[in-house]
Amino acid sequence: MQKHQSVWMHIGAGSFHRAHQAWYLHRLIQQGDDSWSIALGNIRNDANVLLNNLAEQNGEYTLETVSPEGERHYEKITSIRKILHWDEKLSELAKQASAKETRVIAFTVTEGGYYLTPEHELDSEQVDIKADLNGEMRTIYGTLAHILSDRLAAHGEPVTLLNCDNLRHNGERFRHGFLSFLKLKGETALYEWVKTQTRSPNTMVDRITPRPTPDVAERVKAQTGWDDKAPVMGESFIQWVIEDDFINGRPALEQVGVEMVESVLPWEEAKIRILNATHSCIAWAGTLTGFNYIDDSTRQEPIKEMAWKYVTEDVIPSLSPSPLDLEKYRDVVLERFSNPYIKDTNQRVAADGLSKIPGFITPTLLECYQRKHTPTATAVLPALFFVFLKDWAKGKLPYEYQDGVLDATYFRALINSDNALAQFVANETLFGSLAKSPEFYSLMEKTVANVEQWIKSPEQSL
Ligand code: NAD
Repeated sequence: MQKHQSVWMHIGAGSFHRAHQAWYLHRLIQQGDDSWSIALGNIRNDANVLLNNLAEQNGEYTLETVSPEGERHYEKITSIRKILHWDEKLSELAKQASAKETRVIAFTVTEGGYYLTPEHELDSEQVDIKADLNGEMRTIYGTLAHILSDRLAAHGEPVTLLNCDNLRHNGERFRHGFLSFLKLKGETALYEWVKTQTRSPNTMVDRITPRPTPDVAERVKAQTGWDDKAPVMGESFIQWVIEDDFINGRPALEQVGVEMVESVLPWEEAKIRILNATHSCIAWAGTLTGFNYIDDSTRQEPIKEMAWKYVTEDVIPSLSPSPLDLEKYRDVVLERFSNPYIKDTNQRVAADGLSKIPGFITPTLLECYQRKHTPTATAVLPALFFVFLKDWAKGKLPYEYQDGVLDATYFRALINSDNALAQFVANETLFGSLAKSPEFYSLMEKTVANVEQWIKSPEQSL
């Protein structure tokens, strides 16, 4: 194949893209397949300095990775071959999107970049969405509507729209949002074209990538001699699972360890229940027992044991049979969380508990009851969160608790009432049909008492 014949255009010049997707495409080039390259741009103007720095370095930068044992590794990433500079009209993005060689348009615009309601519908009341419906380009929807209509006018070759953000069913949910946006905007021809000439496979992406601090550039300089103006750092672990549904070709990603599958569902469920739920459990337990960081909290044997039991006793039976080795996945996740070189805060991970309980935890509780197994180990998670909320209401948390859906007045009153736990458990948004289950209430009563006892002597097992 001809050199750089196909372009992967990426929207969202954050750290994660450069530590993840760009690394895989770089690896492919290293293996001798240089048929694909990346063109990188951004919707907002907050990445201009970075884009300029990258342009000065011909798109190249250093990726530092660190293993749980503290081994650091440095690699020059070479897959970004074109920088799409920002201007108000996003003219370079539009031009690149219209090029025939652009076969994939991928994006990382954060979880908040999709403006969906809890029912996964486009939230057209949001200011940014209203602005885009009036022709602006503040969001992925307004931007794609604009640049894809240019592509349709130019030649209308098909293109894959690939969501690489951390969102359950990310391809489907983005696509539903985008089609709803086009309908509301009255873009009939574009709507029909997007429906037939684009695809949006679901993907599961994974690599912890903190925002780079100044010491990354210092280490890169010391190790490689290069005064890199745009280094990134991440953990050594990396994973990418993609539904194999591309409409106009794709890089041979399976050659570099990407799992190309028919359905991403088993991976997504494993990630949400084993990685995300466990992460929150550790953050709540760690906070309640005086720790600030995820790695310190995970290395406390009783906390690790709590997480291990939850996954082993309740989650694995729920997700089996699975194409994944779930025991191994559990062990790798706990090892990653213990990595002392990735200083992730309990505050960041403890956030948004009110969304995480129904999204990450209640499905496991329900499935345990369905198979007539009492979810003793899973009940610890909402019990920890309840005790955590009590500390929040008393102003005893060591940091500000962030939760996008927290109605502070309602929850303060609930926690201060005589039957706080009964009200908490009866909340259907959190616990679905279990909110009416006396059996579940009695399990929670016992578990909250155990958790409160444990906090007094956290060196003991729960
Ligand atoms: P980052 O803060 O470095 O970059 C965020 C990028 O998104 C910026 O380019 C910003 O301009 C853009 N952006 C923010 N809000 C937007 C909006 N509403 N519309 C359009 N663009 C918007 O973040 P990052 O580390 O690159 O992470 C980005 C996303 O990648 C995460 O939100 C997550 O979905 C996914 N991800 C990140 C990690 C990680 O560890 N960092 C791991 C897995 C997945």
